[in-house]
Amino acid sequence: VSERALPHHPRLAERALARRHVIDGKEQVVIHDSRTGNLVRMEPRVWALIASADGSRDLDGLILAAARRGALRRRSELVTVLEELHRAGLLEGGIAPRIPVTPSADRPLEPLAGFSLTCDASGACCAVYGTVRFSSLEAARARVLLPDLLDGGANPERVFLPTAGVGEDEGLAVTLVDNRCAYLGESGRCRVHELGGEHAKPEGCRIYPATFVDDGEVVRVSVGVECACVLESVGKTGGAPLVPAGARARRDLGPAARVVVLAESIVIHRDTVVTRGDYVAWSRLVEALGWPEDPVPSLVSLARAIGRAGLAEAGSRAAIASPEPLRADALLPWIEALAERAQARVQSASSWRSARDRSLLASRWIEAAARSLLDRRALQASLDAPPPDPAAEAFTRRAFFHGHQGLGQLPLAEALVDRAVRFVVARALGSVVARECPSDAAARHPLALLEAMLRGHGLSAYAHELRLPASASSEDP
Ligand code: SF4
Repeated sequence: VSERALPHHPRLAERALARRHVIDGKEQVVIHDSRTGNLVRMEPRVWALIASADGSRDLDGLILAAARRGALRRRSELVTVLEELHRAGLLEGGIAPRIPVTPSADRPLEPLAGFSLTCDASGACCAVYGTVRFSSLEAARARVLLPDLLDGGANPERVFLPTAGVGEDEGLAVTLVDNRCAYLGESGRCRVHELGGEHAKPEGCRIYPATFVDDGEVVRVSVGVECACVLESVGKTGGAPLVPAGARARRDLGPAARVVVLAESIVIHRDTVVTRGDYVAWSRLVEALGWPEDPVPSLVSLARAIGRAGLAEAGSRAAIASPEPLRADALLPWIEALAERAQARVQSASSWRSARDRSLLASRWIEAAARSLLDRRALQASLDAPPPDPAAEAFTRRAFFHGHQGLGQLPLAEALVDRAVRFVVARALGSVVARECPSDAAARHPLALLEAMLRGHGLSAYAHELRLPASASSEDP
């Protein structure tokens, strides 16, 4: 790529997620490619060279903007950074197009029955994700409450960067200190909450870990089982409900509730597509059926039944109630792919993350857990043993079907096998964490840590790598 090949009005692509990290006391800006997991790292001053690349300035305009920020040393340095980003596919040209979204405000809410969340306020969830989102107003409030934190009162960019590209429209992502939210105190308490009260916190933090999916009939409100508190709350009453008291329809949710709208057509297996209505009816059926204590063989049998006969009710009922015997060979390639993905992430993260970073430790534990199952006999023994925490798996399965959590980038049948693999690896992960760090919450609820890492750090891409060439990359925020 040469200067002449650069876009005339360069813009950081929406897939480029810039995050400011403080790693062992040193600041860095890391630009993650949300599609491939590749990353580009730079010093904060170098980031300031391109922080105005929003598609409205040509090269001369960018040079002036960088000089105004006090970041410019040489024109060639700015060009080199742009060339590197362009080579990485992270640069586009011109202003980003806007796609208007029409929310279905009248859609009724259907929360997962019988669940309320009791948060232990330990702050564990504030130290595991690569993105903590604030609105502009929430960021301003946090900076006013804690102006000296990273000097963010006077320098907003030291505590917040745009969640995507360089515009603020999608929200702001907070700086991470050894992967902990900058506003997380050493005590494990949220300092914004301590100083400003619960409602001073970002709405996203208050909503977490609820999930919202508009399936054309209702908004299914479920929960991401990514936090030990979710599993600790199962079977208890008196916690916080998943939606505000009195909320009945989509319009009653706050702006931070990100409602995903299901597509009209759903891919259930390879090229087999069904209507959204047919899929929704099927999901109600499988959520309501009685499942065996060990869901793993039933999930794999259900995937096979879908491959043979689509969403036929009789096949689904039989697969769940009387699953086929499950041999290790059926899951081995999946577990191999997860072990490789985790290994790649460990290698990438070790090169720049702090040794204290819990996401790095978690990647190591997940890799060790997956590797412990690569021996066919060990995997078969695990499949033949009763699940160590059937209540946690039953709840996770219910939240999965209620929240349409199997619908994403994989066909439904593959998503069911992926769900089974997660249960199996989480069982092994419990032993790894109990050995390596018995005080970590993941020793009690390994499934929650596995889920958080799969979604929050790109490990879920392992399932695509079964079919696609492995990426050289390894991390997503
Ligand atoms: S703002 Fe508070 S609650 Fe939200 S992630 Fe940061 S420390 Fe946690």
